[in-house]
Amino acid sequence: MVIVLHPTATQENLEEIIRILENNDCKACPTYGEFQIIIGVIGNTQQIDRDRLLNKKYVDKILSVQQPYKKANRMFHPENSLIQVGNQIIGGTQLTMIAGPCSVESEEQILDIAKKVKASGAGFLRGGAYKPRTSPYAFQGMEEEGLELLKLARKETGLPIVSELMSITKIDKFVDDVDIIQVGARNMQNFDLLKALGQTNKPILLKRGLSATFEELLMSAEYIMAGGNDNVILCERGIRTFETYTRNTLDLSAVLALKRLSHLPIIIDPSHAAGKWWMVEALSKAAIAVGADGLIIEVHNDPDNAVCDGKQSITTERFAALMEPLRLIAQIDNRNF
Ligand code: PEP
Ligand code: MN
Repeated sequence: MVIVLHPTATQENLEEIIRILENNDCKACPTYGEFQIIIGVIGNTQQIDRDRLLNKKYVDKILSVQQPYKKANRMFHPENSLIQVGNQIIGGTQLTMIAGPCSVESEEQILDIAKKVKASGAGFLRGGAYKPRTSPYAFQGMEEEGLELLKLARKETGLPIVSELMSITKIDKFVDDVDIIQVGARNMQNFDLLKALGQTNKPILLKRGLSATFEELLMSAEYIMAGGNDNVILCERGIRTFETYTRNTLDLSAVLALKRLSHLPIIIDPSHAAGKWWMVEALSKAAIAVGADGLIIEVHNDPDNAVCDGKQSITTERFAALMEPLRLIAQIDNRNF
């Protein structure tokens, strides 16, 4: 951290800043320029109240040298994080393929989809039991019954299950029942939820918020990791832009940026990004080509009659056909699934 004082700052002002820094166990290294004093700050600057310093008339600006996230930062953890779920490792050479419907609708539906995506090569089954819907009048998910059906599908197919947790009140149930807990885009900054998930050791699929920056996403990962849970998987699922043709805008640069900034695995959700089923296959190929650690794709056995997100769901047949080109693209980077 570097503090730049205003040209009118006095020696007393400088001494006050030095006192504040020392009270925060940091050391001040002032440099006297022709017009301004610049103070380099050495030590753990995380505790320093920047707003309080900026409120002082004689402080011109504060510059950050390091990023505010530590545990999620590649600088302090140069090698990629590997997250084990059952016998699969997320973030290594094997790509993570998560497939399934937006929401669990019935026993017949989830079992049929689970068996088909498993036969095609998916490694995980997704399915919402508690759904975050824009309208309070829309289907809210099968809730507890939905979780039971996911468990049944896991038992029948062996596929580990991924499902979204919306409320802190259900956390123990999710820890017991699901293999990866999804935090949806709308809850990316539900800090109480993130803190509670930090107290568990469950793998967390953390989706990027609707208009969250990379730093905000990584700060949310930091909330979970600060509690002691290092098993965080990032997910880019499209962001809000001025474009309305697609549901969101898929930001594939997120893979490159987040891999540079962080050691955490990142997977792509082309379904919620595009909002259109016919874009999902090409975007999936692009995501693997750009170096994503995997995909989470909405797949339905009857998209036209899906209760939720049918327009962006590909059929089980199209999903099966997509696997071969994805394997070929993965091979270029010595990856497989
Ligand atoms: C979902 O995965 O079904 C979902 C609601 O995702 P998101 O939070 O990315 O909108
Ligand atoms: Mn959905």
